[in-house]
Amino acid sequence: MLTIDGFKQALRHAQSEIEANKDTLTDLDRAIGDGDHGINMSRGFEAVVAVLDDDYASLGDLSRKVGMTLMSKVGGAAGPLYGSAFVKAAPKFGDATEADFKLVKEALLEASTAIKARGKSEVGQKTMVDVWEPFLSDLSEADDFDAKLDRLVGETEDMIATKGRASYFGENSRGTVDPGALSSSIVLKAIMKEVE
Ligand SMILES: [Mg+2]
Repeated sequence: MLTIDGFKQALRHAQSEIEANKDTLTDLDRAIGDGDHGINMSRGFEAVVAVLDDDYASLGDLSRKVGMTLMSKVGGAAGPLYGSAFVKAAPKFGDATEADFKLVKEALLEASTAIKARGKSEVGQKTMVDVWEPFLSDLSEADDFDAKLDRLVGETEDMIATKGRASYFGENSRGTVDPGALSSSIVLKAIMKEVE
């Protein structure tokens, strides 16, 4: 079950993991982008943690607030993507104060759909979609969530980017893990840990 406190704990955990991986995210984005992903995600999740002391009536309210905070605080391409993910997951959580595995999966599927729509991207383009969509498409409660996420992040290494700034690197984008895929795995691991 994901409770409101559990959701808050997941976001705090995500923030500390992003902080621990900030330099890695920066290095990856420097290799195939503009090098701002670590700083942007760090700033965004610090802002998220700052709103967690407030009271929320439902998982939907919390998810909406998180999304709007990320939208305004995370720069680059990632802000609108992560922001819309949490904003669009909010109606699926609705007034619920706790969510079972099925509801969490449904809400995350809404988030994944929002990311694809906002980024106009599909699987195979070396973006965060390559983590979100395959992670959720056949997700079962019995899965080893962390192992599945690590595998999907690793699979972006051999892909050639055809979307966003990384696509300018063409063939040279091969050999680098997508930074958005890595940050997505961090966020999803933190959430799934609280659902287990
Ligand atoms: Mg960037």
